[in-house]
This record gives sequence, C-alpha cells and structure tokens, in this order.
Amino acid sequence: MPAPRPAWSDDDIEAFRELARTFFEKECAPHEERWCEQQHVDREVWLKAGELGLLCPSIPTEYGGGGGTFAHEAVLAEEQVRAGAPSLGTTVHSTIVAHYIYAYGTEEQKRRWLPKLATGELVGAIAMTEPGTGSDLQSIKARAIKDGAEYVVDGSKTFISNGLLAELVIVVAKTDPENAAAGISLVVVETQGADGFSRGRVLKKIGQHGQDTAELFFAGVRVPTANLIGDVEGQGFIQLMQQLPQERLILSVGAIAAIESAVTATIKYTKEREAFGRPVFNFQNTKFKLAEAATTAKIGRVFIDDCIAKHIAGDLNIPTASMAKWWLTQQQCDIADECLQLFGGYGYMQEYPISKMYTDSRIQKIYGGTNEIMKEIIARFI
Ligand SMILES: Cc1cc2nc3c(=O)[nH]c(=O)nc-3n(C[C@H](O)[C@H](O)[C@H](O)COP(=O)(O)OP(=O)(O)OC[C@H]3O[C@@H](n4cnc5c(N)ncnc54)[C@H](O)[C@@H]3O)c2cc1C
Repeated sequence: MPAPRPAWSDDDIEAFRELARTFFEKECAPHEERWCEQQHVDREVWLKAGELGLLCPSIPTEYGGGGGTFAHEAVLAEEQVRAGAPSLGTTVHSTIVAHYIYAYGTEEQKRRWLPKLATGELVGAIAMTEPGTGSDLQSIKARAIKDGAEYVVDGSKTFISNGLLAELVIVVAKTDPENAAAGISLVVVETQGADGFSRGRVLKKIGQHGQDTAELFFAGVRVPTANLIGDVEGQGFIQLMQQLPQERLILSVGAIAAIESAVTATIKYTKEREAFGRPVFNFQNTKFKLAEAATTAKIGRVFIDDCIAKHIAGDLNIPTASMAKWWLTQQQCDIADECLQLFGGYGYMQEYPISKMYTDSRIQKIYGGTNEIMKEIIARFI
C-alpha cells in the first residue's frame, strides 16, 4: 500500500525521497544483517550519508545543512523504514540533536558543530536517561558544575542511541543540583580525547540490533563553559519540552511507514501462501484482519499527514504530537503482531522481514517518552 504523494510534499521533496530510498536500499539494507551482529553500523556510512546530503536536511545551508524543512526529515524516516534498514541513527542525529543546537545554540556553537554533523564527521547523541530515572526527567542526577571557565560533568547515562559511535553528546545535566526542572541544562561533551569519558556496553536488545544503544559514563569530564547550549543555565528542561514534539512526530512518521510496510508485505504473502487448497488471503479471517489493518493505515496516514503539515507551518501543538506518538506506535505494535500471525511459523523466522518489524516495533511505545507519559500530557490539555 504505497501512500500517494502527500499534500505537504513537492517535486523537490520527492527527489530527496528518491535519493534517500536509493541510499537506504543500496548502502544500508545489504549490510543490516552484519550491522545487527556487530551491534552498530559502520562508521563510514555516516560519511556517505553526509556526502549525499542526507544528514541535517532541515538545517539551513549556512550551517552546512540541506536547507529543507521537516518534510525532508519525514521522507527520510519513511524511506529508512520502507527499506528495512533501521540501524543508522539519523533520526536522533539530524532531527533531534542538530535541532537543539540550531534552536538554542549560540552563533559560535552553530558554526562549530552543525557543519560537522551535516557531513557526518561528528555523530550526534542525546543523553537524558540514567540508570535510576527515565520518565521522571527532573530527577536526573548527572551534574555539570561550573569551575572557572569550565563545567565538570559527572554522571551515568544509559540506553543512549548512537552511544558507541557518538562524538558529540548533548548531556542533560543539573547545573544547579538543588533545583528540579529549573536546575537542568544541556551541555555538549565532545567525546574524542575527553578525559573522564567512557562508554559502557552496547546493550543487547530484543530488536533494533544494529543500533548502538549504549551506556555512557562521565567522571569529572571538563568542558568549556562555551559548551552550554545557549547562554543561560537552567534552560534545559524548557528546551527539551519545546523540542520533544518534533521527536515524537518523527517517531510517529516511522510508525506509519512501518504499518504500511507490514500491511503491504502481509497482503503479498497471504496471496501467495496456500492452505487447504486456497490462498491464505481467501480465508475470511485473513481478509477481515487485513481490512482492519488497511483501515488503520489509512486513518493513520491522514492523521500523520495533517500533523506533518501543521508542524511545517509551526502549528503542531504538544498534545497532538503526543496523540500521534502513542496512537500510531500502539497501532504499529498491534499490526505487526496481527500481520506476523498471518505468516504462520515463517513470521517467527528472522529471514522474514515481518519478524523484524515485530521486534523493532516494541521500543516505539517506550522511547521518546513512554505512551503512558503521552497520555499524562494529553490529559493536562483536555
Ligand atoms: C532502544 C532504546 C533507545 C533509547 N534511546 C535513548 C536516547 O537516545 N537518549 C535517551 O536519553 N534515552 C533513550 N532511551 C531511554 C528511553 O527514553 C526511556 O527508556 C524511557 O523514557 C522510559 O524511561 P525508563 O526506561 O526509565 O522507564 P520508567 O520511567 O522507569 O518507567 C517504567 C514504567 O512506568 C511508567 N510510568 C512512569 N512514570 C509514569 C507516570 N507518571 N504515569 C504513568 N506511568 C508512568 C512508564 O510508562 C513505564 O511503563 C532509549 C531507550 C531504549 C530502550
């Protein structure tokens, strides 16, 4: 069920889609199995993506980006899912990390970091979550305490996407540990040669095996005060709250692309596979399940296209982004499960993409703010 061209797209964006599709199909998909075994992508693929202009597509050209909009980020995410090549962490790198620097960074910070993120010379990560706290972000323990012209960063972070390869980490830390939200700041740690910085394990997960989700440790890491994102301490929580809708929307874009891919693959398989002398598709149960899934895909597509258009116009509000995130990721998990069932035993085999869609989908209800937290947020606005 390939979606028709959305109203928020145009020829330029569709050309970018084509470029992204070719890149994910040719440069990523053939390596996915090996990347899953080694638990990370090859470092060089970041440079290839950068060369093609696929990193930071919605950062202005004066900072090395593609000069596009969120539409470019969206088609990139869609084509990555459609190619079945989810390991390269471009969403975190481009749609999230680069945008913190672009939105809140000083002119010097933007000129220093954004061009290198756009070429892939630097890989970006954002470290919020700690072993002791995830959803309750205000309770983080990591500290960045000013000492003369430097911050001294201490703390442990876990579950950090791009954690093994990242050379630029935005660390969410308390510059004022006596305060909750008001004490939080975002501080950049450039990891190359940083004394006191170390990486822990690349974590073994139930899905997304090729994505380097890792632990990061900071023990007295010194960074210049110029690495505080923005000029003023204590803005981190507000900055996070303002950027999280974009993060949630891009996860929702991935969810709808996965839903559409699962439905397409399952229609094809059930029309080919026979049982009791007829295609599995012809059983009423199969037809009804797929009719339901196709309906959900359609509703989801209309909703996401509306959210994307609103976001491009600067009109996507916090509760709507939260609605998109919880509802579409819930549908993604439900549909992956229902579709896998229609593959029978083959659905449980790793060589069938539907099995990966099933295991990869599960995290979507957890990261970017859990779906329970999404409902908490929505409830505050109703
Ligand atoms: C593969 C992967 C990649 C990730 N990438 C990153 C990353 O790049 N950077 C980063 O910082 N983090 C990352 N995370 C962390 C992720 O964002 C957190 O796991 C998530 O926010 C939940 O935090 P937690 O795991 O501590 O769960 P908890 O906060 O301990 O939650 C446990 C359960 O309690 C529920 N709960 C908590 N509070 C409430 C409440 N108020 N009301 C109702 N229910 C509640 C939760 O919904 C959940 O079901 C990643 C995680 C994974 C697994």
